[in-house]
Amino acid sequence: MSKIAMMTPLVEMDGDEMTRILWRMIKEELILPFVDLKTEYYDLGLEKRNETDDKITVESAEAAKKYKVAVKCATITPNAARMEEYKLKEMWKSPNGTIRAILDGTVFRAPIIVKGIEPNVRTWKKPITIARHAYGDVYRASEMKVSKPGKAELVFTDENGNETRELIHEFTGPGILQGMHNTEKSIRSFAKSCFTYALDTKQDLWFASKDTISKKYDHTFKDIMQEIFEAEYEERFKAAGITYFYTLIDDAVARVMKSEGGYIWACKNYDGDVMSDMVSSAFGSLAMMTSVLVSPEGCYEYEAAHGTVQRHYYKHLAGEETSTNSVATIFAWTGALRKRGELDHLPELMAFADRLEAATLATIEEGKMTKDLALITTLPEVTVLNSRDFIKAIREKL
Ligand code: NAP
Ligand code: MG
Repeated sequence: MSKIAMMTPLVEMDGDEMTRILWRMIKEELILPFVDLKTEYYDLGLEKRNETDDKITVESAEAAKKYKVAVKCATITPNAARMEEYKLKEMWKSPNGTIRAILDGTVFRAPIIVKGIEPNVRTWKKPITIARHAYGDVYRASEMKVSKPGKAELVFTDENGNETRELIHEFTGPGILQGMHNTEKSIRSFAKSCFTYALDTKQDLWFASKDTISKKYDHTFKDIMQEIFEAEYEERFKAAGITYFYTLIDDAVARVMKSEGGYIWACKNYDGDVMSDMVSSAFGSLAMMTSVLVSPEGCYEYEAAHGTVQRHYYKHLAGEETSTNSVATIFAWTGALRKRGELDHLPELMAFADRLEAATLATIEEGKMTKDLALITTLPEVTVLNSRDFIKAIREKL
């Protein structure tokens, strides 16, 4: 059997701990035997990041910009414990944050749906993809606690020193204050990434905020989305048979619960944070969530939504058997291979991605799965496999 050819390399971002182990197994068992794989490899494992003063992360993001498609393994975001564990020179920033800032991208998270793992919401039949605007608002806010009566104001000083003031509140006693911001530039990038991804996946796009209450702040989000939609995307949406609509966040929540899924729900930063946790847990498992970072220019970085599964890694190091779910990482690879195939006009590569996904789902539907899924499945007969045997079972199916 001849292997499927590639033209342009994928940007491959390797990672840490248990997902790094799975990464190798996936490549060895499910990709290299079938695809003449071309990648530009960046090791984002914490040791290499520390060794290169984190330059490797920046370089990998630049490569993603250049080649347009990347696939990333989960990586450790250092904290105090990791400083000690890995003897780090510095508490390096989250690679995902660094890459997102360089690509100016938006993260889209979607569940992988499979028979036997049923969502808690009965009506949900298709994935609900959450797009989170990951800049500003309460995440970059300044806060104050006041202990006595006084006047609080918002003050904006322009380049020439002119001040604009807006009363927040006349305090008659102690209280709390918060000032937050967003930028038009960031909202525009978010809008473009959302419209691009909706066209890409041929799904309707919803956007919701609280514009009835927040007549300037939230309303600006609504206005910018609408303006960009009408100027650049409306015709293309029509041609693709999809729609964009804005609604109040309360209404969106009610509609989501009654919907059957199959759309992208664009959220402001806080809504996206909270709703993505709600949607992923209601769909069953964090190990079955995919994540793709999309830049406004159309660069794509695919990954699993979960972390490095540290607890399993320590078991693995202790020589114990693990049953870690590789599905979301496999789907990161298939997402990237399919997109590469699409951009390079390689139908065979795209078809391979489809087949690998189908084989993965069929394996689970036959009752062969990892422990995390066995705990929640509705299938009557289940065989729990270890990390490698699950991947081998998929290969057999493939
Ligand atoms: P995690 O790796 O997502 O794992 C949390 C728990 O969820 C696991 O202990 C496991 O539960 C379960 N789980 C997650 N993925 C699973 C899988 N594929 N198969 C089976 N079970 C799975 O989160 P964490 O332990 O909080 O974080 C570990 C490291 O990952 C941290 O250093 C963090 O910085 C990093 N992280 C990276 C990313 C990223 O790169 N995108 C995202 C999040 C976190 P049980 O232990 O009960 O089996
Ligand atoms: Mg959250």
